[in-house]
Amino acid sequence: MRTLSLVGMVMVAGAAFGAETPDAVKVHDGGPQTNDATWECTSGHQVRKQRITLGSSARKYTFLVSGCQDPSHEGKHPCAEGNFGMPDPISGNWYWGGFFRVFVNDTDATICDVKDLRVIEQDTRGEFQILWSHPEAEVGLRLMLLPGGNHVLADLVWKPTPGATVQSVRVELTCYPSFFTAARNRTGERHCQTPRADQVEPTTLELQPEQDTYLYYYDAVFDMPRARGTDHAQPSWRPRALRAGT
Ligand SMILES: [Zn+2]
Repeated sequence: MRTLSLVGMVMVAGAAFGAETPDAVKVHDGGPQTNDATWECTSGHQVRKQRITLGSSARKYTFLVSGCQDPSHEGKHPCAEGNFGMPDPISGNWYWGGFFRVFVNDTDATICDVKDLRVIEQDTRGEFQILWSHPEAEVGLRLMLLPGGNHVLADLVWKPTPGATVQSVRVELTCYPSFFTAARNRTGERHCQTPRADQVEPTTLELQPEQDTYLYYYDAVFDMPRARGTDHAQPSWRPRALRAGT
């Protein structure tokens, strides 16, 4: 089994979750819900969605699992904005509709069957896991929030299917730092900062893994603490992402 830790995925302010004690971590599983497809897929198809929220005394983060259930997709579950998103604390930053994809042998695991989606821990720590059944590997993601935590810890694992060979695994993350600038015809100044460099859009930052031990995305024009950033409205436009390194 191979693993990859994605540390510190979240860095922006969110509303306090109202935990009963300062150190408790609350977890809420909204359970599966189904709606008629509008923007998500073809009209007449049914889309399944499930929200799970992790909340500390400092922050609240909601994750959204989406996918069309129509059998015409032959075991895949497309969704126009992606299959794994983060609607809270705001719709931007790690994108509410879909910010996380895992490609095994160049095909997306997060569009495959969800084999398991459940809460692992709450109170002492908040944690849930999701497992996707990719044909060549079972892919698992665990997300954890610690007491008082202002960021989410992530652990990604994959286990090759018996008889299959995993040639490559690639993670794709999508973020809109603080604001949907292009979609709202506004000009920002997006940056990606690492311990080694601070690169501004639209150039591509070529990562040096040994030195670029974290990536920090921000916009020098739009910034939530300065009251210049996105609101909570979920947009109807299609994403034009600033791609993270993979
Ligand atoms: Zn569909």
